Amino acid sequence: MLLHHRLLPRMLISSSTPVNTSLLLHRTSGCPSPTRRILSPWCTALSHVAAPQTIDHSDSDELLGEVQVQLPLDRLFVPPGASVSAGDTEAVTTRVLKGSNIVLGPYARGDANVIAADFVKSSVRPDDCPRDGLPEFALVGRSNVGKSSLLNSLVRRKRLALTSKKPGKTQCINHFKVNDSWYLVDLPGYGYAAAPQEARTNWDEFTRNYFVSRENLVSVFLLIDASIPAKKIDLDYASWLGQNKVPMTLVFTKCDKRKKKKNGGKRPEENVENFQSLIREYFEAAPPWIMTSSVTNQGRDEILLHMSQLRNYWLKH
Ligand code: GDP
Repeated sequence: MLLHHRLLPRMLISSSTPVNTSLLLHRTSGCPSPTRRILSPWCTALSHVAAPQTIDHSDSDELLGEVQVQLPLDRLFVPPGASVSAGDTEAVTTRVLKGSNIVLGPYARGDANVIAADFVKSSVRPDDCPRDGLPEFALVGRSNVGKSSLLNSLVRRKRLALTSKKPGKTQCINHFKVNDSWYLVDLPGYGYAAAPQEARTNWDEFTRNYFVSRENLVSVFLLIDASIPAKKIDLDYASWLGQNKVPMTLVFTKCDKRKKKKNGGKRPEENVENFQSLIREYFEAAPPWIMTSSVTNQGRDEILLHMSQLRNYWLKH
């Protein structure tokens, strides 16, 4: 299934790679040095955590100003059309999108902002999806991961994603056209415990068919809740995408939620790193990842810039 236009992640087919659980993300106030030997230079990205507005903060216990994230160069996502060399560390630092491992390359343009967004259609089969060939990004994640909130935040509309929550549409592929030139696609949530097993299996198959057959799919945005430890179903999903060479960006949601340490809760940065260490073996090169919050809008502009550079590269190749 090699699709010409796709930005394929390079794969490492290995099941024996040891799982590396060492923490690579450090708070500035904590230990700043790497806990394992890294041969390449380090790069720093600032993850800004702003004050919250509304929504469920029952389990938040503190807010941090800025969390400094240190990454080795080989954990960065260098977009197609850009390059990074080891002597380049300082220049690269300024080009990493805040709260992510994504380097900003030459294809990021001033067209990142959303001017207009409209619901176009709900499709029950991949074949029914729009056929105008515009580039698209698909959002997928476990039910309740914050997909609708993120979609609304990206397009700066409070209720646009409600369309996808209407009865009869939750199991559909819902297309939203942005700036008349590209699509955001809302896919059915997975792991919904209340759904009968048969329905769940059908949704899975249906979504997987979409992933492998949709030629204008530039990247899947897999949403992962960063306020809780990694869940098996999410790890399986990510590794399936990796093994099937479906381009993927990991979007960590709810990064404003900071669980109480004394209750054994981990900080979002720790959950983020842990998730990646658990899927690393399925990817030869680090997939792009970004931390977000629909409460603070953390990561919103950065995701749009990332989409812009992927889209513009895709359109040119
Ligand atoms: P969906 O089922 O994936 O579409 O998830 P929703 O967007 O409906 O969100 C599920 C729940 O998580 C709701 O109670 C939201 O208010 C909450 N939520 C979503 N995003 C965030 C976030 O970034 N931070 C916090 N604290 N809560 C969020």
